[in-house]
Amino acid sequence: MDIRLDKCLTFGAAMCKTKFQQILPTVALAKGKIHSVLLEGHFKYLGKIFDFELKYTIPKQEMADKLGKMLNTLSALKIRSQTKLKIFSRYVTAQFTFELKIYNFTDTYLSSVIDKLCTFHIRKWLEFPASSCVNEWASAPIKFCGLGIPTFAHRAGRMRLTKRNALMTSKNAAIRDLWSASKRSNIIADSMLESLGRQSATTSLKNSQSNDSVSHFLGLKSQGLSAKVVSESVLTKNIASWKQTIDLLPEHVFIFVRKAMMNQLPTLKNLKLWGRSATDLCPRCGCCQSNKHVLSNCSSPEVLARYLDRHNQILKIIALWIKSNLGENKTLYCDLSIAGARHVSDIFNGFRPDLAIVLRSAIIVGELTICHETNLQTSRDFKLKKYANLSSSRSSAFRHYTVTVHTIEVSTLGFVVAEPNFFKLAQLPNFSPALTSEMSRTAVVASREIYCNR
Ligand SMILES: [Zn+2]
Repeated sequence: MDIRLDKCLTFGAAMCKTKFQQILPTVALAKGKIHSVLLEGHFKYLGKIFDFELKYTIPKQEMADKLGKMLNTLSALKIRSQTKLKIFSRYVTAQFTFELKIYNFTDTYLSSVIDKLCTFHIRKWLEFPASSCVNEWASAPIKFCGLGIPTFAHRAGRMRLTKRNALMTSKNAAIRDLWSASKRSNIIADSMLESLGRQSATTSLKNSQSNDSVSHFLGLKSQGLSAKVVSESVLTKNIASWKQTIDLLPEHVFIFVRKAMMNQLPTLKNLKLWGRSATDLCPRCGCCQSNKHVLSNCSSPEVLARYLDRHNQILKIIALWIKSNLGENKTLYCDLSIAGARHVSDIFNGFRPDLAIVLRSAIIVGELTICHETNLQTSRDFKLKKYANLSSSRSSAFRHYTVTVHTIEVSTLGFVVAEPNFFKLAQLPNFSPALTSEMSRTAVVASREIYCNR
């Protein structure tokens, strides 16, 4: 058989239907492998199923069945949901490369059937309620607190670009003719390849796909708010390290964090919204029991003591780390009793910031706040305002020292934000990934306990 005919079949989508039907008998004779096919019927050639209508009815059904079977098997495994997500993103999706490459499935089909099937299972693994916007969250990049798993519709779009590029840049002149004859300026992949070239077109496509997911996810008033503030306030590398940390947590803690991040915990406010509770009032203090209320705003003395304990656990981790990295001619002062550190009340009258490092003529203050994700920026502003005149509270022994105040925020679900000048002026290295991870873990475990005792 002529090579061009062979390629034409592999890239069957480029052919018009009439022309396609005309060449079928030739193929059957030439290869001697394809049996006669009835009108409305189909046949398989080089692994690809051809039907006369070119509607891909059978391949669509086969793909949905194969994916359904895999996801059912994965769901039934007795492993942590984090591991299921990892298997899904690294193994399951890779099993459909061939199908996405050879068939021009529409985005509508991929989104409404294939991605919907995946969303159904992911929701089940994470015990998310039906109202959760799982698809956009899962496909949003990690730096926006998503899972960074592209949807099948996204994968197909990228594959289409690769496939069209193979035609455009083929060494075979006949294949390039096929590209010229079939390219259309209104086909996104074609116009991007022509104007940008492969590399830039791929980057541009990936960016536009993740922008779509992100703008939908972060635009969600309730489910996307925490992720929006986090992505604006926390360094990308700290968000990536946070994800690694929570992926290693026990499953029930991991699920708690993921649900809390999207405001999907069954707090009384949500239960009332979902029609499962008559009241949304906190039984401890009488205020509306929202996610934020439970994790950081309840005024009941018992809960306040738990918030303080969570704060002090993290402060202790930081103080011990500073102590081991302090170096000579510097002294650590802390609001906790730490062996080898002095108490901050020795430096200030009336104010007790969490940490102070005293150098030859300077006091570098570090104030730690454990706040809700949505308060990462306001908590910082509040603390800076509170300590704006801290230098006027120096005790007489320190009256010649300059004072600078810096904030460290650790959110209730473990995101860490620390002002770089704190480390620079105190001549300390930046927080190590192991330390950030320990703080995240401590915050998450303590917050879950607070949530369970709400
Ligand atoms: Zn309360």
